[in-house]
Amino acid sequence: SEPLPTDLEIARAATLRPLTDVAADLGVRPEHLEPYGRDVAKIDLAVLDEPSTRHPSSATYVVVTAMTPTPLGEGKTTVSVGLAQALQRLGQRATVALRQPSMGPTFGIKGGAAGGGHSQVVPMERLNLHLTGDFHAVTAAHNLLAAMVDNHVHHGNALGLDVRNITWRRVLDVNDRALRNVVVGLGARQDGVARETGFDITAASEVMVLLSLATSLRDLRERLGRIVVGYTTEGRGVTAEDLHAAGAMAALLADALKPNLLQTLEGGPAIIHCGPFGNIATGTSSVTADLVAMRGSDVTITEAGFGADMGAERFFDVKCRVSGLRPDVAVVVATVRALKVHSGAYAVRAGTPLPEGLRREAPDEVEAGLPNLRKHIEIVRRFGVQPVVALNAFPDDHESEHAVVRRFCNRLGVRSAVTRHVAEGGAGALELAQVVMEAAHEPSTFEFLYPLDLPLEQKIEAIATQVYGADGIDVSPAAARALADYERLGYGGLPVVIAKTHLSISSDPTLRGAPRGWRLPVREVRAAVGAGYVYAICGDMRTMPGLPSSPNAERIDIDEDGTVTGLS
Ligand code: ADP
Ligand code: MG
Repeated sequence: SEPLPTDLEIARAATLRPLTDVAADLGVRPEHLEPYGRDVAKIDLAVLDEPSTRHPSSATYVVVTAMTPTPLGEGKTTVSVGLAQALQRLGQRATVALRQPSMGPTFGIKGGAAGGGHSQVVPMERLNLHLTGDFHAVTAAHNLLAAMVDNHVHHGNALGLDVRNITWRRVLDVNDRALRNVVVGLGARQDGVARETGFDITAASEVMVLLSLATSLRDLRERLGRIVVGYTTEGRGVTAEDLHAAGAMAALLADALKPNLLQTLEGGPAIIHCGPFGNIATGTSSVTADLVAMRGSDVTITEAGFGADMGAERFFDVKCRVSGLRPDVAVVVATVRALKVHSGAYAVRAGTPLPEGLRREAPDEVEAGLPNLRKHIEIVRRFGVQPVVALNAFPDDHESEHAVVRRFCNRLGVRSAVTRHVAEGGAGALELAQVVMEAAHEPSTFEFLYPLDLPLEQKIEAIATQVYGADGIDVSPAAARALADYERLGYGGLPVVIAKTHLSISSDPTLRGAPRGWRLPVREVRAAVGAGYVYAICGDMRTMPGLPSSPNAERIDIDEDGTVTGLS
């Protein structure tokens, strides 16, 4: 097959539709569009108060998830865009709602994240760099609170914050390992109180996930007030409201709460909003984006980070609980390369290229990797949602390898389609679009995994055993103390997020397939009370990535007429 032009070449060759026309397809009138330069606009949330052209419950809600990915990703974003393009070709009003990429990976390893090939969101340079400044607003709001914490301590600490138990750190949207651990307040008396703290990437900010879960400006303001920045020596939580910081934070975030409208390469609406981390946070785009999309579309397609064990579970148990929206279909993206990796025949590590041997025709290796895909299908079914397998075709794939996956899906009674949207755009995903619409017409029996009144520890156990397939959980003494504290402090009714590796369904990144006979070690538990969940840390979690020896930033440049190169 012919080599594809680069993502940037394809994106640059695209003719964009006037954004007001794209908005009209979404039922959004010009007075609700706030242009941010050419081809990007924010959508005023007042649209949600306008009568819809259809009732949200009669619209189809599709989440795109995946089998356990390789470190490169298996194509959820490209499938989401390609599926939206294909549905439009079938006459559906389809909108894709995605996270805004963090600039950390853009300059680090992964490169841009606006889709790929003929399934991209444009303008891709804007999308990958700053967009409308929402991440900067999150950074500013987060760091304003940090400054007010240290200022409060400096001016006498009337709230009695235990300086050794301040949990609120600072954030920056740059991968910078040198900032993971810092000492602030060095110098003279007037330079503040010296203490150890550190920086996380902006995507890991509680403000980011809070913004993504807020349903209105009022809800945003209330959630900000509930943020716990640390504890007093008596163990009482000190909040952003106690520090009188939440109002100013909300003022900084008011525009960031509005979803951003862009378009797909084929001119359909693409809503890009928020970018919470997939490991310690929800890893989904915003509730407001989905509400706007559902109001104005026949089909809304949204992506949930990493595999179904991680992103889809949180999408169901955390995001859908907040939004009140009920998913109809979960597209499970699979690739030949990931299936081969789950055969156990290859060693893959984050930050290194995939082994060359993966290109060889090896249907037996694909077969050996199927238990992983089966487990992700079972996870989706556990929630009463219809699974559809999208086999994302790569140039190195072989027909015999695709046939293995199709036969397997037929045996399991799961709809599937091979999709060629990266090479062919929406035209390459028509079969996928058809089976997604078929699946959407099946009765949905969506249910949460656990009720909120279950104790926190039992919620963690439910996810570990019923979603991951663990035999049980081992809670460290420190984690057990924190769980008891949180129940006492009144956080026990929150849902939970489990922070673990995305490279295995288990908490051990080297275990492939569908591991059995293991227990989930809960090392530490933290509360994101403002965002509205408790998270359990099960493994080594990086909240501030580092740059590789040759970062992608070295290949990015701009010429004198303003053309950016090297983004993908
Ligand atoms: P995810 O959202 O699951 O992390 P992406 O959609 O971002 O995955 O895809 C990961 C990478 O693989 C991107 O660089 C993307 O351009 C590339 N990619 C995805 N699908 C294909 C495909 N079918 N052919 C070639 N490259 C692809
Ligand atoms: Mg993605």
